[in-house]
Amino acid sequence: MTAVETRDIRYSYPARGKAKGGMALKGITLNVQKGEIFGFLGPNGSGKTTLFRILSTLVRPTDGDAFIFGHDLKKNYDAARRALGVVFQHPSLDKKLTVEENLVHHGHIYGIRGEELRRRVEQQMERFGLTARREEFVETLSGGFRRRVELAKSLIHSPELLILDEPSTGLDPVARRELWDTITMLRNKQGLTVLVTTHLGEEGDRCNRLAILNEGNIIASGTPDELKSEIGGDVITISAAAPEDFAARIRQKFNVHPQVVEGAVRIELARGHEFIPQVVEAFPGLVQAVTLGKPTLEDVFIHRTGKKLWAEAQAESAA
Ligand code: ADP
Repeated sequence: MTAVETRDIRYSYPARGKAKGGMALKGITLNVQKGEIFGFLGPNGSGKTTLFRILSTLVRPTDGDAFIFGHDLKKNYDAARRALGVVFQHPSLDKKLTVEENLVHHGHIYGIRGEELRRRVEQQMERFGLTARREEFVETLSGGFRRRVELAKSLIHSPELLILDEPSTGLDPVARRELWDTITMLRNKQGLTVLVTTHLGEEGDRCNRLAILNEGNIIASGTPDELKSEIGGDVITISAAAPEDFAARIRQKFNVHPQVVEGAVRIELARGHEFIPQVVEAFPGLVQAVTLGKPTLEDVFIHRTGKKLWAEAQAESAA
């Protein structure tokens, strides 16, 4: 059964003040099956949030159609909205309320009350290990616990589809792993369909299928293995003082196609372990450091765009 379908979705935004207008989505067509964890992997500004805002009925696309469990977002907006739970990047919790009050409040918004609401709130607090913290104010909780409350809240009205926008932002590696274990559990036990965005390749690996987004387009989609298999062999990354010059010399001497990505020389090659000693010997003293690895989803993105998913410059401006 199809959980989510979009047909050629486009989204343009107008110029405002000094900011130029543009097109955040340039024709997104996709199909997500019920019970899939479907990921959107792309750098900042690739259109992930805009797509989620459209799918969660917050904004209308400029063009194109979208269906959630067969409900046309243009016509059956309310039915579509009831079928989905959403966790956006900007926390939607009321920090001045307790854990339990936040969950109860969400239930009220969806018209759930009385014994039924109490049962659901208990169930979600239990599931996310929040029962002992039910009376704590959200503002006193750590980032990891707040994320759990967000998730618990998004599930109170028993949605069939969960939409998570960069849910692991700000979480440490342990909390991040826990979050992904929870997402996987929800899918396995309840058959929940999950749409999730990330700019981290290793999170993409935890999805059943994913679409790679760049500048408002889907540039590749498939299972993590299918996507990675487009890169034959290994990925070698070499640090050197003058990377552009070094890449040119490697290109000249060996029949390979190095790229310079973020100041390092990157080569996709079968039997990379045999190539490394040859380069080191051919250019004595020039190789400062070298790594060899199996292709990751980040490599798929680099292979297609020549850019990294998460550039240092972005990390600095986000900090
Ligand atoms: P992501 O979530 O992948 O970071 P977004 O969907 O937030 O990407 O944004 C895609 C691009 O469209 C960005 O360049 C963003 O600045 C721009 N954009 C989207 N919506 C608007 C809007 N309403 N006004 C101005 N710019 C927008």
